Amino acid sequence: MGREYFIAGNWKMFKTSTESREFVQALAGQFTAAPGLTVAVFPPFTALEAVRGLDPKVHIGAQNLFYEENGAFTGEISPPMLRGLAEYVLVGHSERRQIFHESDEDVNRKLLAALRFGLKPVLCVGETLPEREAGRTLDKVHGQLEKGLAGVGDADWAHLTVAYEPIWAIGTGRNATPEQADEVHRHIRGLLESKVPGRRIPVLYGGSVKPENSLELLAQKSISGVLVGGASLNVESFSAIIQNGSKLLSA
Ligand code: PEP
Repeated sequence: MGREYFIAGNWKMFKTSTESREFVQALAGQFTAAPGLTVAVFPPFTALEAVRGLDPKVHIGAQNLFYEENGAFTGEISPPMLRGLAEYVLVGHSERRQIFHESDEDVNRKLLAALRFGLKPVLCVGETLPEREAGRTLDKVHGQLEKGLAGVGDADWAHLTVAYEPIWAIGTGRNATPEQADEVHRHIRGLLESKVPGRRIPVLYGGSVKPENSLELLAQKSISGVLVGGASLNVESFSAIIQNGSKLLSA
């Protein structure tokens, strides 16, 4: 099977609707579609309508969702509300887990709800610095995957992406070395292979990915793309990362 890259930009709580629209239009002018290349941005909920259908090369994801279909859940957004606005949805981003106290069980309910309503979840997992220093990285990631993926049905695996994001590398400027990332990615691949043999589920790396380190990270065999925070907020830096993916695809 040929290589495929998924280059995703998580905008977090940045960009108004107008800014998001202008960004997607500008980004679409910076790269050409290529077989095996998927580019997606994850704007805030409020900008999803503004970027909908702007350019088929730029796929759209949401940053979060709630697991109930509707009800008295002030401030939450349900899967059916996202349907038609977003193709992908992040679940279990470390900021959701840490700041908003989402448990593995919450993450699992969100993931299953997303799948139930035809959204493609990107399940984020990763260890803290103390966990890495205590040699607990693989255990932590393994546990998050086992709990996060509980109950995924046979037909659903095709719609799933995993993102390994070491928490100590998010927004810190300190990325995992390609070797550190590769070790965890290989572990994740092993676990996924044991669940669904023969199916290649994309596993992205995230954590201070920039144009300067993206080529080396993407060149790792076990890495099928990147989830980019800070560097996805700027058209130039995000498109430079996309260009690196294209370069590797055509090499
Ligand atoms: C993220 O928010 O998923 C992320 C990886 O952020 P950054 O690239 O800024 O570290």
